[in-house]
Amino acid sequence: MAHIGTDISKAADLLRAGEAVAVPTETVYGLAANAFDEAAVLRIFTIKERPTFDPLIVHIAQRSDLHKVAQQVPASAEVLMDAFWPGPLTLVLPKRPEVPDLVTSGLDSVAVRMPAHPMMIELLGSLDFPLAAPSANPFGYISPTTAQHVADQLGEKVPYILDGGPCAVGVESTIIGWEPEGGGRWVLYRPGGITTEQIEVLVGPLGNSDKGPVPMAPGMMDSHYAPRKPFYVGDVPALMKRFAGRSIGVISFTTDHDAHRCEVLSESGDLAQAARNLFAVLRELDDSDCAVIIAEKFPEEGLGRAINDRLRRASAK
Ligand code: AMP
Ligand code: MG
Repeated sequence: MAHIGTDISKAADLLRAGEAVAVPTETVYGLAANAFDEAAVLRIFTIKERPTFDPLIVHIAQRSDLHKVAQQVPASAEVLMDAFWPGPLTLVLPKRPEVPDLVTSGLDSVAVRMPAHPMMIELLGSLDFPLAAPSANPFGYISPTTAQHVADQLGEKVPYILDGGPCAVGVESTIIGWEPEGGGRWVLYRPGGITTEQIEVLVGPLGNSDKGPVPMAPGMMDSHYAPRKPFYVGDVPALMKRFAGRSIGVISFTTDHDAHRCEVLSESGDLAQAARNLFAVLRELDDSDCAVIIAEKFPEEGLGRAINDRLRRASAK
């Protein structure tokens, strides 16, 4: 069994020795390794069974570390970092040659963010290298938002899980990329913990990801974040009729539906609370005696966009 604990220096020692360690962030738990050590990074892909065409996010301790991994940082990136770092916003920028190709899947750009979780900040601050980290789950499955979620699935494969409690945001970071052509613009690659509205107030309208550099990346891949059980998203009463006679688990925003199980993500209608609960509830229903899981579509605004994105991919065949 994996060791779960709160020993930051133990996690740091393992990372210095080239191991992959599960770490808490404010978004979801990550599986981290030295971003400059290709062999360490390879462990992440092996443990997760993640295809190497899917690039990783590099996590830095402070803004002054950005130049170690990225270059040609536009002025608008400074505005975004001022507003949202540390926090769940990932910027895709031209990469420095020192960043191994394995981290970026051979792209000439790198995804980078400064996480906000106090333990992760302390850990990063004690290391002299940044951490490459995707979510600490088997590729394609629901992302982990507690240390126990990580242990349940990767417990045998990781030497240590640093326990920072339940994740405060609960969905992955928002990813935007800088595309310099024609004067330059920011493009949305994945909705997440910082809303489109928050970003657009500062840098104007975001472009669409249709010509994003990583069309096959999981944040953008159709089936992802997926439970094993049949999972449908849409109008709950209609879907309940369609599966009448089967044990149904429902995920809803505020309404308590009369089903075998019904999980209300936020009685008060708070999208941040709903996002925080989403993956844990999805896991719980996937492990329950329900035969089918049904989720309602959330309001397509603010964090509702990130929730709907995850629900859509989790239900994609
Ligand atoms: P995660 O699996 O949450 O660690 O997210 C990693 C995701 O970040 C990838 O699946 C991509 O969608 C995105 N990403 C990472 N690096 C790049 C990059 N250089 N260009 C575009 N997207 C990237
Ligand atoms: Mg992931």
